[in-house]
Amino acid sequence: MFADRMNDAFAEFDRDEAYAFIEGFDRATRRRGQRHFQMGAVTMLKAIPDGFEAIVEGDYDSTVTLLWDPSDGWLGECTCPEGIDCEHVYAAMQAVLAEHSVAAVRSLRPKALPGKSRPRWAGGWTGARSSSCAS
Ligand SMILES: [Zn+2]
Repeated sequence: MFADRMNDAFAEFDRDEAYAFIEGFDRATRRRGQRHFQMGAVTMLKAIPDGFEAIVEGDYDSTVTLLWDPSDGWLGECTCPEGIDCEHVYAAMQAVLAEHSVAAVRSLRPKALPGKSRPRWAGGWTGARSSSCAS
């Protein structure tokens, strides 16, 4: 969906922190933000230093900046009149979380392979046989 480069940005991404951040928004903002996200209003998402930048289409396009601070947590800024923690920030973070799910699946695959590449019966056959004969 978005560039593969996003994988790098997720190296230190904490899903729980991200969820806690947007779940803290008021109910109306969350509902509108969820609708934006489901309608595909997030048309651009990219990694920037310390966070993500997204464009959310609406009556006018809003540019959302999501910044991660190790001590303060997530900060969401938007170019709409609300400025911070608005429905666009919510939609943008949902898009980040959706991308993170895809990236996590991708990164799991290579890790699962090496253990299976060597057949279990390879090597050690004669040793196992002679020890069972000894008893
Ligand atoms: Zn906004």
